[in-house]
Amino acid sequence: MSVKDNLVHIQNNITKACKKVNRHPNEIQIVAVTKYVTVERAMEAIEAGIQHLGENRDEGFLKKYDEIGKRATWHFIGTLQSRKVKHIIDYVDYIHSLDRLSLAKEIQKRANRKMKCFVQVNTSKEESKHGLEISECINFIKKLEPFDRIEVVGLMTMAPFTEDEALIRRCFRTLKELQMEVQALRLPYAPCQELSMGMSNDYEIAVEEGATFIRIGSSLVGEKNEKVEVSNIESQK
Ligand SMILES: *Cc1c(COP(=O)(O)O)cnc(C)c1O
Repeated sequence: MSVKDNLVHIQNNITKACKKVNRHPNEIQIVAVTKYVTVERAMEAIEAGIQHLGENRDEGFLKKYDEIGKRATWHFIGTLQSRKVKHIIDYVDYIHSLDRLSLAKEIQKRANRKMKCFVQVNTSKEESKHGLEISECINFIKKLEPFDRIEVVGLMTMAPFTEDEALIRRCFRTLKELQMEVQALRLPYAPCQELSMGMSNDYEIAVEEGATFIRIGSSLVGEKNEKVEVSNIESQK
């Protein structure tokens, strides 16, 4: 499928989800997650009208940035090791994975402008998931006050990979509730107007629950092509 066809399909689903809850599709930005695919495929997304691209590894990001540069708005969506910050900080527009003070310190040290950051929260309470515990989130954001190179534009979460819609919805709702708590604090450095939540298998629920950035990889640009090639080689043996 072309990225354009996938995009039309996803936009239709977003429109339907918006209608259910009285939102406008313009409130939702699609971040095309290109971590599985080639630079060419990422370019196809740009040509289909996508503005936002997301990557989760510094190597993958820098390789694509080299070719695509300022034609996209860049989102770093993966776990970010502090020692990698200096490699990407000048080129990314948003960091979705701020979840500890040591990382905040490194961003503060390396950034030469205000960085738009999402604070990542582990709403599913799964051991394997990164992000702050729900109960730590507010305190963490309060502690960010001295870091004048960090703007908390929103919160980010990943729901569990499950068929259980109610469970997914509960995670997204928790993030929305936390957002309202943060907004009520009226911290100048944490307007927290955005919610980054929803992926290929749950973005419609996320839209219903208030997402403003949805991060879509496999159902928009596809998964790793290499997988197909590997299985072809296997079957030739
Ligand atoms: C890979 C990834 C996505 C996209 O996942 P899909 O299921 O392929 O849409 C979104 N967010 C994060 C943090 C990711 O690592």
